[in-house]
Amino acid sequence: MQNPEISYEVPRSYGHWIGGKEVHSITCIERVNPETGRVVAQFAEGAARDAENAIENAKAAFESGEWSRKPGAERAKILGKWAALVEQAAERLIAIEIEEAGKIYRVAKGDVEGTVELISYAAAMAQNIAGQAFMDVGDGLNAFVVKEPIGVVGAIVPWNFPTIIFAQKVPLALAAGCSVVVKPSEFTSGTALELARLAQAAGIPDGVLNVVTGYGDPVGRAISESPDIELVSFTGSTRTGREILKGQHVNFKRVSLELGGKSAAVVFADADLDAAADGVLFSIFMHQGQVCCAGSRLLVEEAIADAFVEKLAARARKLNLGNLRDRETDIGPLISPAHLTLVHGHVEGARQEGATVVCGGEVVGQAAFPGAPAQTYLPTILDGVTSGMSIFRDEVFGPVLTVTRFDTVEDAIRLANQSDYGLAGSVWTRDIQTAFQVAQRVRTGTIEINTSLEGKPQLPFGGYKASGLGREKGQAGLDEFMEVKTIGIRVSPKEAFFPRSR
Ligand code: NAD
Repeated sequence: MQNPEISYEVPRSYGHWIGGKEVHSITCIERVNPETGRVVAQFAEGAARDAENAIENAKAAFESGEWSRKPGAERAKILGKWAALVEQAAERLIAIEIEEAGKIYRVAKGDVEGTVELISYAAAMAQNIAGQAFMDVGDGLNAFVVKEPIGVVGAIVPWNFPTIIFAQKVPLALAAGCSVVVKPSEFTSGTALELARLAQAAGIPDGVLNVVTGYGDPVGRAISESPDIELVSFTGSTRTGREILKGQHVNFKRVSLELGGKSAAVVFADADLDAAADGVLFSIFMHQGQVCCAGSRLLVEEAIADAFVEKLAARARKLNLGNLRDRETDIGPLISPAHLTLVHGHVEGARQEGATVVCGGEVVGQAAFPGAPAQTYLPTILDGVTSGMSIFRDEVFGPVLTVTRFDTVEDAIRLANQSDYGLAGSVWTRDIQTAFQVAQRVRTGTIEINTSLEGKPQLPFGGYKASGLGREKGQAGLDEFMEVKTIGIRVSPKEAFFPRSR
């Protein structure tokens, strides 16, 4: 069934959003719709001076105190209004996500709904910024420990979830009282620019939220290297994250990094195997596996492995490939032709190292799937993957599930932890002790029992090891955007340390 509400106005043309108005660059970046191959948007191609201009605006806005010193309850009211405006604009934002990111309708809709939830949550948090009071730290000394907005935040966002990753960063930064300069991905800048306009309509003062579009170098680099940015909040590849971290160490700036992953789905023989199959398929094939916390490594107990892999493959073959606006479509195209080549390269490499292709393993054929976009990679399952193979270690960021078998709980935990990454994972079993043992000993920022990919605004998200630093969402996410200040108060006179100086 086609979704009738989406209207396409193509191509959309955008400038940067700086100081509450549109600012153009001489050149622009064209975004080609991964579904149709047609140009759907043009974004200003920013230079370092555009980033500097945005940072100056953000700094001036922060120092003015118009937002940073506004009472939390007032910030909350405006953030709440922003959430309502985003909700009203949902169908337009969904259409942009479909066209720029190649999302299927259901995923794009979930992202926009999640964005509304994240902004509403930030509104609630804005009026609940609490510290500590110590009334007895010493003889006549009291103290408050208070939280203050950190200052100007640089938010760098990738292409896979342009709207919801923006929403994991920006609303909480604004709730804290910070000003923000956002650098969306050069592929998918539309929704960030739309959200910034809606923020202005809701009453967020000009200069508090700015968006500069363009490439990682120079725009992202100028933001991450600026002395006026107090925190770089980055989501993207581990490679770029490493580069950003190097610069920040020298500058003593804070940095929060949400990076790659190679998460395990651990399935025991006693699990509800139908529910496990649904959860495993969802966690690897949602948005074509271009998901940082995708469950890309299936670890399955030997006793049920053959039957479970067959069950998964039978379901994977039935996934619908077709028009993205059709609500029954399950799988869409990959983000770019270059990424398609990269994903296929990983699969070819695995085949050469001895993995067996159970299903997929190739680019969609037009004869077999006439309605599917040409840039689609078939949902792929690779069996016989051992921990020594590259595909067991490397993030593919595509619809590719590897299968590795285990015999004991210890084995399962060892294999799950055999990764440089530590972002997420799931465990499927009816045995509560096994479930908890695995959940406690797998070294990842999130682990789910008998479910997968259930992020909520209240629940912190982030990685161990090479998956990153810091957390987004929840109280921990808000704290990333705040400095802690101790205010000591003497309430009774203190004996002088240098009495003879009196
Ligand atoms: P990427 O690192 O190539 O780009 C991310 C962003 O950084 C883009 O906006 C890009 O323009 C910018 N950038 C590139 N070079 C830069 C530089 N030198 N300085 C500053 N900014 C720079 O990543 P991508 O290809 O857009 O996204 C895919 C990657 O993101 C995957 O590895 C995925 O796992 C990861 N990711 C992680 C999470 C998470 O929350 N952990 C979420 C989504 C994606």
